[in-house]
Amino acid sequence: MDVQFRLPPYLAGAWREHPAVATRSVMARTTGFFYLTGGSSITIGTLLMGSEVRHPGWVLAIALVSVLTGVTVLATQGRMPRSMVHALTLSGTGLIAAQVVLGGGGVASIVLSTAYLYVMVVAAFLPIRTALVHVLTAQVAAAWAMIASGISPGAVVVLGACALSVTVVLGWLGRLSDIAEQDPLTQLTNRRGFDRRLESAVREAGTARGGLALILLDVDLFRSLNDRRGHRYGDQLLIGCAEAWRSLVPESSCLSRYGGDEFAILLPGCRLGHAADLADRLRAATPPHLTVSVGVAAWEPGDSGSILMSRADVALYQAKSAGRDRTVAHGDPGRSASELESAVAARELFAAFQPIVKLSTRETIGFESLVRWQSPRRGLVMPDAFIPEAERTGAIHSLGAWLVDEVCREAVAGPGPRCSIGINVSPAELASSEYAPMVLDRMAAHSTPGNLLVLEVTEGAFDEEDAQVVKTLCTLREHGILVAIDDFGAGYSSLRRLDTLPIDILKVDGALVQAIGERDDAPILAAIAAMARALNLRLVAERVETEHQAAVLASLGYDLAQGFLFGRPEPR
Ligand code: C2E
Ligand code: CA
Ligand code: CA
Repeated sequence: MDVQFRLPPYLAGAWREHPAVATRSVMARTTGFFYLTGGSSITIGTLLMGSEVRHPGWVLAIALVSVLTGVTVLATQGRMPRSMVHALTLSGTGLIAAQVVLGGGGVASIVLSTAYLYVMVVAAFLPIRTALVHVLTAQVAAAWAMIASGISPGAVVVLGACALSVTVVLGWLGRLSDIAEQDPLTQLTNRRGFDRRLESAVREAGTARGGLALILLDVDLFRSLNDRRGHRYGDQLLIGCAEAWRSLVPESSCLSRYGGDEFAILLPGCRLGHAADLADRLRAATPPHLTVSVGVAAWEPGDSGSILMSRADVALYQAKSAGRDRTVAHGDPGRSASELESAVAARELFAAFQPIVKLSTRETIGFESLVRWQSPRRGLVMPDAFIPEAERTGAIHSLGAWLVDEVCREAVAGPGPRCSIGINVSPAELASSEYAPMVLDRMAAHSTPGNLLVLEVTEGAFDEEDAQVVKTLCTLREHGILVAIDDFGAGYSSLRRLDTLPIDILKVDGALVQAIGERDDAPILAAIAAMARALNLRLVAERVETEHQAAVLASLGYDLAQGFLFGRPEPR
């Protein structure tokens, strides 16, 4: 339900939004700081008050828990979800109530109850609707605890009123500072506020989940409408757009009037395809007789705010020069990202599993997962036809996360004895700091041990000498996951780095196996086998199609193999 009464400009939006100063990390650090200082001052105070505190042991125990919580929260440097601030505020309310009761009434309880000020200060920087919940809970808990421990209702009223006025004044000051970042016409964030949020979103994009996207919207032919029908009419159009779009953008996003007739939307946790879909919905909701041109871009590792902005700008320019009234996603003119991301969501993708066997016994020791797309429009699509596009547009992140979930489930729930399953990973996934946490999260969700997963990585992933790629692989190897170099020998293999990279297995490229032909010697395959032995790496020969190839490989010392001779990729 939305409230309809009219608030002053600096309070508009305050019902649902935080003041600009209260970023996720500021709120987390403030809460951590309060826990730490509150806990330590109560520890010292309780020791000094001696017998005035009825149950000093319990009060000290709670204070110690607070100190430890504060230290832990501060150590995360604000990298925790907003919901944690609510949980910490509510538990703070509970802990303080317990301490007031354990104080046993009198001065000790009154002193301990002053800690409610911390809760009331945090509440001042929350959206009004959640602040009300915290303020009410704190006031009720405080009143109950003080009256239960015998403090006079008069004291309760004075303390409660003081705390409440602190919340109101701090909250008002916080909102007042927002005026500098608000557009007076539409009451959206202005360019200055948007740029500040963009910079902090880019800083967090490396650590947050799910990416970051930016939408730029430009009202078509606004200048001529404004000139022909007057500025007042133009103003009404801009207000109309802001009102039509406000309810369509997600709560975590920032809708801004970037300047003149240009609007910008910052979408944390959003990929290119979904952002482009949202842009289409915004265009559809534009007030009658107006059209807008839209440019969309997604953040890529290494991007600054201004690079992201300029990519969205290029896309906007393309949308305008292609005839306006359209959405262009940067780097994805065919909009395949939204098609693929929707395919993942609509469960049109499935994994096929191809066996990997021991050459000597033909026993299956593992599988490789290979993705396929059953598209209602295009029929069965093989990975070579959509993986390169997914890599280019960033849809690979949604696809990869879906596959990891699928494989983690299959590895423990599938029929037969537990076998390892290979997952093909694109360089862009490894270059993202979100990849390792995502895999660990999926493993935990399905209770999948790391040694059942093998990441298949092509040598190209190491070309850029990206420290994050190596970090991702090292983190996952620490959890027992094995790393294979895929298609080894297909490109220019950098032998120098093989003994320093975090790898366990070489998957030898099928082209080398196919070249065995009728000859019985295969000097390159022999050399690779010798090298793998020296480096203590396991070997898998790929694309083995004939018994002759299998025999030659076995004679060269190859232990494991994969190919149509032993089994095709099959869905389960
Ligand atoms: P890859 O990793 O080299 O996968 C092996 C490919 O060789 C598979 O093709 C498989 O069907 C095919 N193959 C297996 N045995 C034989 C054989 O005996 N003879 C011949 N001629 N081919 C054989 P597929 O499934 O079309 O996959 C193609 C490529 O697409 C894969 O090459 C891999 O690089 C990529 N890919 C597949 N699934 C994924 C995925 O989920 N994520 C990513 N990033 N890439 C994937
Ligand atoms: Ca592979
Ligand atoms: Ca391969």
